Amino acid sequence: CIPDGTNLCSNPSFDTPTIPPHSSSSSIPSSLKTLTLDGYFSFENLKHAAKDFGNICHYLPIAVLHPKSVSDISSTIKHILYMSSVTKLTVAARGRGHSLQGQAQAYQGVVINMESLDRPSMYIENGEVPYVDVSGSELWINILHETLKYGLSPKSWTDYLHLTVGGTLSNAGISGQAFRHGPQIDNVYQLEVVTGRGEVVTCSDKENADLFYGVLGGLGQFGIITRARISLGPAEKMVKWIRVLYSEFSTFSNDQEHLISSNKSFDYIEGFVMINRTGLLNNWRSSFNPKDPIQASQFSSDGKILYCLEMVKYFNPEKIDVLNQDIEKLLSELNYIPSTLFLSEVSYVEFLDRVHLSEIKLRSKGLWEVPHPWLNLLIPKSRILDFAEGVFGNIVKDNNNGPILIYPVNKAKWNNRTSLVTPEEDIIYLVAFLSSALPGTDGLEHIMTQNQHILDFCAKAQLGAKQYLPHYHNQDEWQAHFGTQWETFVQRKSAYDPLAILAPGQRIFQKAISIT
Ligand code: FAD
Repeated sequence: CIPDGTNLCSNPSFDTPTIPPHSSSSSIPSSLKTLTLDGYFSFENLKHAAKDFGNICHYLPIAVLHPKSVSDISSTIKHILYMSSVTKLTVAARGRGHSLQGQAQAYQGVVINMESLDRPSMYIENGEVPYVDVSGSELWINILHETLKYGLSPKSWTDYLHLTVGGTLSNAGISGQAFRHGPQIDNVYQLEVVTGRGEVVTCSDKENADLFYGVLGGLGQFGIITRARISLGPAEKMVKWIRVLYSEFSTFSNDQEHLISSNKSFDYIEGFVMINRTGLLNNWRSSFNPKDPIQASQFSSDGKILYCLEMVKYFNPEKIDVLNQDIEKLLSELNYIPSTLFLSEVSYVEFLDRVHLSEIKLRSKGLWEVPHPWLNLLIPKSRILDFAEGVFGNIVKDNNNGPILIYPVNKAKWNNRTSLVTPEEDIIYLVAFLSSALPGTDGLEHIMTQNQHILDFCAKAQLGAKQYLPHYHNQDEWQAHFGTQWETFVQRKSAYDPLAILAPGQRIFQKAISIT
């Protein structure tokens, strides 16, 4: 079940599997084989389904379904329900497997390889309220290319586009556009879902709204997303990409908050922290030019922690003059270190697909498929200074293992009916420690210990932080994470997946055996 023997998932009740081998485990493959499908099952060479981007947890399933149709998914779930008096078989949809802690895996269960689902061509509605209908297994990069043919594109993104629609909508999909448009889950009009009862249900704000909002940010607990209708807006051709530096955290965060609260602002606002940085993972200004090369060359950080504000404005080249005026005005309202203004101009696609370039570089050096003990937190604005003071330079003494992103969003603009859990303030910060554990070092344990120190600090200082892409050890912690939303979450689970078949890798519920 743990091919490389390095199981650092720290959940005793789930990770050291206490589930006894299925009493009828030998009969399960033959029972699955009786299903009439458009696709097929594989029962051998399943290691791929026990691996994810995190590369920390490895749970071998008993079978992988390669569905061709939605009905393959529905029939499989119904069959497992039918078998539930004799087996604890569970089902995990696997998008791209870019989870961090085994969330798309199923120990001795069935993994559904969503990428094999037949994807009918995307339907793009180009009218007054534009949208695109896509498969739940579609990659965001493909949606970008297809919608651009109509001069349109989705409005809210993730930093990396080689992720599936179903995978990001099960979490939230947060990036530098979320301050204005909300996360990706707030930019969806309709879903088609196969529930944990095996039913295929269409849902939206108007139809089966409880399921719709439950599934959005629902960590795969209520259904498998097979189609999504995603809101689109006009797309520009180019972007002006700007980075400026600060040595004071409060000046940096004040400017970020000012920008996300202005009506006429940038289209994308993020930021990151640099603590004693060196190395390949940190060539942060490789493609940027200083506005004033002489002044920039004289700038020295004197070993201080630096905070980089990153802003982007989309534009069409015909309107470059207006754009430059707008940018100048916006920059004049900020208090960055004047010599540290760096600019770049790239195409809209190049900007949105920027992390893929890093992927190619890291892959070529064998640094992509390493363990990724990432930690993502949502911190309320009222405590972000306490967080920065307690963590940057104190708990985290350098960030040579990878970037630390930090940026605020207007949560007041987010839909609070989804399953996503956030701190209860109008402005919250996403802080992402995106570490890589390099081969041949004690990096993984060191980073995981450091992550735990950050979590302990947040708890002790009662910052009201919430994990994003959450990972917890037991149901009490999940209950604390959901807080007042826990009851609704549990009710939805019993309505749409009563035997807790779906997404066992999230480790929120344990599958029940039905008593027939
Ligand atoms: P998987 O890992 O395959 O699945 C994730 C979860 O969703 C699992 O529980 C799985 O069972 C379930 N699931 C998968 N498909 C479906 C479906 N069709 N229906 C229902 N449930 C399903 N996230 C952000 O928000 N913002 C970012 O900027 C961002 N950047 C990232 C950059 C990189 C390099 C990586 C690796 C990840 C990044 N992420 C980001 C995190 C990403 O959103 C999650 O890892 C997401 O889960 C990945 O999608 P996936 O398609 O690989 O899903």
